[in-house]
Amino acid sequence: MEKVMRQLANEDLSIVREEKSRDELLKMFHDNPFKIDKIRDNVPEGSGSSVYRQGNFTDFCTGPHVPSTSYLKNVKLLSLASTNYKGDEGREKLVRIYGTVFPTEKELKDYLRMREEAVKRDHRKVGQEMDLFVFNSERAPGFPLYTPNGTVIKNELVAFMRELNERNGWEEVSTPHIFTDTMWRQSGHYAKYKDNMYTFEFKDGTGYAVKPMNCPGHITIFEREPHSYRDLPVKYSEPGQVYRYEKSGEVGGLTRPRTFMIDDGHGFMRPDQLVEEIKSLIAMTRETFMLLGESKLDFELSVMDEEHLENYLISYVCGKCVTVFHARKVSSEGELQCPECGSLDIKPDLSKWREATDSLRTALKESGIVYEELKGEAAFYGPKIDVHVADAIGRKWQCSTIQVDFMMPVNFNLQYVNQAGKKENLVMLHRAVFGSYERFMAILIENFAGNLPTWISPMQVFIAPVSEKFVDYSEKVLAKLRKSGLRAHLDRGSETLNKKLKMVREKRPSYIVVIGERELQSEKITVRNRKNEQKEITIPEFVDAISKEIRQRSPTQSI
Ligand SMILES: [Zn+2]
Ligand SMILES: [Zn+2]
Repeated sequence: MEKVMRQLANEDLSIVREEKSRDELLKMFHDNPFKIDKIRDNVPEGSGSSVYRQGNFTDFCTGPHVPSTSYLKNVKLLSLASTNYKGDEGREKLVRIYGTVFPTEKELKDYLRMREEAVKRDHRKVGQEMDLFVFNSERAPGFPLYTPNGTVIKNELVAFMRELNERNGWEEVSTPHIFTDTMWRQSGHYAKYKDNMYTFEFKDGTGYAVKPMNCPGHITIFEREPHSYRDLPVKYSEPGQVYRYEKSGEVGGLTRPRTFMIDDGHGFMRPDQLVEEIKSLIAMTRETFMLLGESKLDFELSVMDEEHLENYLISYVCGKCVTVFHARKVSSEGELQCPECGSLDIKPDLSKWREATDSLRTALKESGIVYEELKGEAAFYGPKIDVHVADAIGRKWQCSTIQVDFMMPVNFNLQYVNQAGKKENLVMLHRAVFGSYERFMAILIENFAGNLPTWISPMQVFIAPVSEKFVDYSEKVLAKLRKSGLRAHLDRGSETLNKKLKMVREKRPSYIVVIGERELQSEKITVRNRKNEQKEITIPEFVDAISKEIRQRSPTQSI
């Protein structure tokens, strides 16, 4: 097929768009029941659509297409998939062919090399080799279970984030996994998100849902006492497990599971505190992604489209009685009515949105960040910053997010007492730096192709005695390393050294310590790093160097 495609590309056939009426279309494609179906479904009676002609081949399509087949010289077919027509299991089986094309041969080759590299690094494959997590499609479809090795990684990430949060004033809290319907109605989750929530009714008739987000729990803690302007900001964080029903939960992967843990934080503050808090979060984001070594961050600022106010929850003011209320119009033409006096003379007040958006802009600029501003991409409840990270092979992952929220403070009536003793609405921030722990683990694994930095490596040291004769001395070495807090493993088996090293390769130990006659005599150990470079050092020297590397959470090896 590729050969034929290249031939056609070399023929430089023009691809021409032609407009046809519905009747003409039905006639043209009368011998193709699928096309007839598509035309009937998509082209209303009395109207028309387009076809594209290329040589003697014509297809029903709305386009757009390249102007000529000569644009398609650097083509590569990638995979096949079998699907049922319209995704309906009762319908015909069809084959879908995936392929790609690039302007130059070099770009195509680079892409294919990256793709090949990505397959080798796939966290599902590496995760299995390193024994990090388990998926069971019958017992918990789309829900990862962590093995001891995987739990080591997760716990190290939690410890890192806990330190980072503490240093930046985000206090840790802990909230339950289920709440009653009362909570989810007030939070607005039932109105917006119920289809994605795991809900159940207990035998006493009370309705519950498993949390898809941690915000309502944090708000409940915040509400326990009144807050004055002096107490703000109040910032809570939690390694919070959430559960969201994903229709096509990615089977066996950590990038789109049905449960995941967010390094979730909620800040409650005065509007004038936004800039400083966002700058601090940007600094936290930068520090976090240094864990990957060299990595490039892209910042996006999503703002409202003021031409389409119906897409957002905003403040409105009544022209008659000056009541201020929060609402989202049903459509661009939809009218709003004053909840107090019923007047239709309602004006939007965008000052809060604009002020918050400006704060995000200022924080980005003062942090020296060149960012992209996306008009109309804000959430309906507020503007936000999203961060994408490019990994070692150039793929981009969406991670951190900082979101301003005008909805929750309204739904929960969150206020503070200002300097004049009056109650004012506060601003709420949702933030996640890793995004989810699951996603960050996937990025870590793929970025390093499983050769994780020592601080997070499930097997920091692998001790391999040359023969059984050296197991006793190796046990002593093991005890010393473990006493120093290192995750060290000893292979007591009777296999040859080469066999032992081969067997452990997929587990990707950070350092390999080989112990034989010479080591026994010299009371030293021979240490091999990931590049297979060897060094003969004493145990205290080794412990000092590796402990420092771990303490610094260095992305590179020091020995
Ligand atoms: Zn939240
Ligand atoms: Zn009014």
